[in-house]
Amino acid sequence: MASLMFDHVKKRYGNSELTVKDFHLEVKDKEFLVLVGPSGCGKSTTLRMIAGLEDITEGSLYIDETLVNDVNPKDRDIAMVFQNYALYPHMTVYKNLAFGLKLAKEPKEKIDVMVKETAKILEIEHLLGRKPKALSGGQRQRVALGRAIVRNPKVFLMDEPLSNLDSKLRVQMRTEITKLHKRLGATIVYVTHDQTEAMTMGDRIVIMNEGVVQQVASPDVIYNNPANKYVAGFIGSPSMNFINGRVIEKQGNIYFTTDNIKLPISKDNTNDLKNYINQEITFGIRPEDIYTDIKQVDTNESLVKYTAKIESIENTGSEMFLYFSVDGEPLTVRNKSNPNIKVEQKITLYVDMNKAHFFEKESGTSIKYDRLLTDNE
Ligand code: ADP
Repeated sequence: MASLMFDHVKKRYGNSELTVKDFHLEVKDKEFLVLVGPSGCGKSTTLRMIAGLEDITEGSLYIDETLVNDVNPKDRDIAMVFQNYALYPHMTVYKNLAFGLKLAKEPKEKIDVMVKETAKILEIEHLLGRKPKALSGGQRQRVALGRAIVRNPKVFLMDEPLSNLDSKLRVQMRTEITKLHKRLGATIVYVTHDQTEAMTMGDRIVIMNEGVVQQVASPDVIYNNPANKYVAGFIGSPSMNFINGRVIEKQGNIYFTTDNIKLPISKDNTNDLKNYINQEITFGIRPEDIYTDIKQVDTNESLVKYTAKIESIENTGSEMFLYFSVDGEPLTVRNKSNPNIKVEQKITLYVDMNKAHFFEKESGTSIKYDRLLTDNE
């Protein structure tokens, strides 16, 4: 397997603005790295530069120690899996799997061993005689993965490989690809716009927006310690709540205030906000960090009470999302389903100020990011 090194890589199509602005990152050997971000942010372009399907405008890309900017795609020892499986419709599964090896002029016996071994890993041995049209979507995707695996490449590139599958199958294939990654000990770069795929599959996640890397970190750090407001709002469903307001100090205590609310900052966060007194900031709180029932938590030191009227409710069966508005800004609370909670009802909310996030108003940079990262180490 292999590592990848992006050294300040940039990509421009024609005379347009840079599509990938400054991608600087090492993908470690055996790592499962997920690129995630909204459509058009430059994920596929980044992946295609690794494959050699797009030129690199500026910067260097290394596979292991080798500079590959000008290396032909077929000489990069990379396999790519796309969302549209790209199987040959007139060939059996066996022939689809064998095709690349045959082109590479591998001996027949060796091809046979490799195809069968791959089919076994993916549990598609019983399908080897079928043609793609006689396969389900999930089975086709497995064959597409098989075509990548059979070549034993240095790096696997996967571009939204699950987006054509129905949601149940997608969940199942997520686990299968994760298991496959462990079993093969492979280096994988995986592109998706789906935050759940990113969070559940990646060793590390790269969050991109408009060609700029916003944060690179483990799913846990991304969720609990987002580097900026963009990342905080992108990961998590329903999204983090944001309220713009001001930091004030009164008799030695620090508060976050708007016209109608005044939230005391918990001790843990006081130091971070000292430099922001009398400044405008954005306060962030995830929907699950506001409780309707104080029994949900063991400690209540950092809980701040707030009473509000429920404007609407979405009930998923196990959970309900309660929608409020605070100073004209929307606020979502995530709660266990409870038939006693009804629209228009006034309800006491407990905001867990220890879980609060704070962002600089203009730049969106997290105010406590650096400290939390140091704490995590
Ligand atoms: P993502 O994979 O994140 O959806 P892409 O990397 O496919 O994004 O595209 C990023 C941007 O680059 C988009 O604005 C897209 O229109 C543009 N783009 C992609 N491919 C080309 C191309 N071959 N020529 C010109 N522009 C392109």
